[in-house]
Amino acid sequence: MEAGGIVEKAIREAYCFFVMLQSLGMKKTVPLVIGNWKLNPVTLVDASLLASAIARKQKTVAAPIVVIAPPFPYLAEVGKKIKKSAVILAAQDVYTEVIGPFTGEVSILQLKDLGAEYIIVGHSERRALGETDDLVCQKVQTVLKHQLTPVVCIGERARDEHGDFFTFIENQLRSLAEVLPAVAIKKIVIAYEPIWAIGTGKTATVEDVKEMQLFIETVLTKLYDRATAKMVPVLYGGSVKPDNAASLHKEGDMGGFLVGGASLKADDFAAIIKAVS
Ligand code: PEP
Repeated sequence: MEAGGIVEKAIREAYCFFVMLQSLGMKKTVPLVIGNWKLNPVTLVDASLLASAIARKQKTVAAPIVVIAPPFPYLAEVGKKIKKSAVILAAQDVYTEVIGPFTGEVSILQLKDLGAEYIIVGHSERRALGETDDLVCQKVQTVLKHQLTPVVCIGERARDEHGDFFTFIENQLRSLAEVLPAVAIKKIVIAYEPIWAIGTGKTATVEDVKEMQLFIETVLTKLYDRATAKMVPVLYGGSVKPDNAASLHKEGDMGGFLVGGASLKADDFAAIIKAVS
């Protein structure tokens, strides 16, 4: 076997080991950092350069698990660029149907074929375009059915002084629980992304993040049981930057981050990964 092949095999084995730890109930001990590139960049050349730069900095598998979600047209090329690194490929959305007359949609089979392992579902920017809890749940079921990991985004538009936003979050979790048995909810990742913090520079405080982590765990305990609730990793997303990542991670008690803007600069993304290491 050539050197590249050996490295690739070692990376894959180490990743499988992480996944095994997760299935043994240690899911929250392996943090996850996901870069959501959104509608960036606008050329394949720039996407390749960014993927290569991230891959170069992430050669070996050490916690956290690092994932990048480029736009659909770049998945194949980005997949090639990160192949020999520890970086894992993700997609930003998926359709509920797998094949047929659905113009403009993207199938889970196509994403799987391109090597995507995580699929972001229900991002607030998709919900703003009309995606409902019901559709989000259908997408989550589609992803799970094909043995990939959905990263389900939840989060309130604004915070009110009476704390009604907690009910909003609880309802988002309830809609998931209506369709997912315990065995399925354990296979998802939740990304708590308060909409007011996304792309605004207004990061949630460590206290906000800690409180929400606890709240989500409490709701999941109510809807399932404590052991199940403890198995579901909860990421934080919303203006995570190199200078706030360490305190959010250390004191916020989250399972990692979903990063938008800062994932478009390889150095910033690497600094966030380092803060979680
Ligand atoms: C996101 O879009 O998921 C996100 C968290 O964006 P940003 O980090 O730019 O706030």
